[in-house]
Amino acid sequence: MTKNGCSLPFTNMMIMRNGRVRVCCFNPDILGDLTTQSVSEVWHGNGYNDLRVNGCLVSHCPAMDVADKKVNVITSEQEAICNEPT
Ligand code: SF4
Repeated sequence: MTKNGCSLPFTNMMIMRNGRVRVCCFNPDILGDLTTQSVSEVWHGNGYNDLRVNGCLVSHCPAMDVADKKVNVITSEQEAICNEPT
């Protein structure tokens, strides 16, 4: 669990169609690129490690109410946002 209470940096990898990796659909930071890196390289890379140590810096994350309850369930509205083309 990160300082801000979100566990997704320890459990989640969102792979976009172009191979780029984000932790979730609410954090726009690109943590890796599977066209040039392995899953293990991304998962253990600087982007994920920084996120795990320093916490997620996204303010007003729509999932935090849920994440605070340590459930990490994505609502249908949030899922629609996640499925928007990037
Ligand atoms: S954007 Fe929200 S759900 Fe995603 S890692 Fe950050 S705090 Fe967790």
